[in-house]
Amino acid sequence: MRDLFMSTLRKAIAELLEQESFDLREISKRLHIKEREALDHLEHVARSVRPKRFIMEPACCLDCGFVFKKRDRLGTPGKCPICRSLSVSPPRFKILAPAKDIAHSVKKMAIGERLWKK
Ligand SMILES: [Zn+2]
Repeated sequence: MRDLFMSTLRKAIAELLEQESFDLREISKRLHIKEREALDHLEHVARSVRPKRFIMEPACCLDCGFVFKKRDRLGTPGKCPICRSLSVSPPRFKILAPAKDIAHSVKKMAIGERLWKK
């Protein structure tokens, strides 16, 4: 029963992220779970989302604008390494269609544009 509950939660998280981007707090509020739990589930979702793509918009410092680009962990950083500010916006997450589909539609668009210009 516990396993079923877990997989339902993960599915719910994946469905949220396919609609729009969310941060950890928003996910935990939506699903009525703790942020810590949301983080665990999110890590699982991130690993099992293929062929779709799990996208993280990096956290950034609200004081100096530093962007945590190199950070792989999904949790919110405690403080800015540059200015030591504690005002750090949490990373946001979303799930996009497989890269193949996107490449395909871009190609189709490019061909369409060529025809249009002739
Ligand atoms: Zn900073």
